[in-house]
Amino acid sequence: MDIDNLEDLAKELKNDENAHVIALFEEYAKTHNITEEKLEQTLSKEHDCFKCESCHKFYCYDEYSFFDEKCIYCCDTDDEDGEEF
Ligand SMILES: [Zn+2]
Repeated sequence: MDIDNLEDLAKELKNDENAHVIALFEEYAKTHNITEEKLEQTLSKEHDCFKCESCHKFYCYDEYSFFDEKCIYCCDTDDEDGEEF
């Protein structure tokens, strides 16, 4: 598959059928000589594509929690942490 621009990349990253999105992301950064941090920023600002720090997948705004830097699915599963003392 050919990914020529960020719009294509964002689309591929959010596609559930792609198993290795983090590899796509890293490869794009390498090929275009941008840092992964910068790429992540640009994707989130301009292409509605947010990286979950927990499951390393990409989500649109509605499925992502800025506060936790995680997708809403990871936030759900992490809830049990708070119950132990
Ligand atoms: Zn997640």
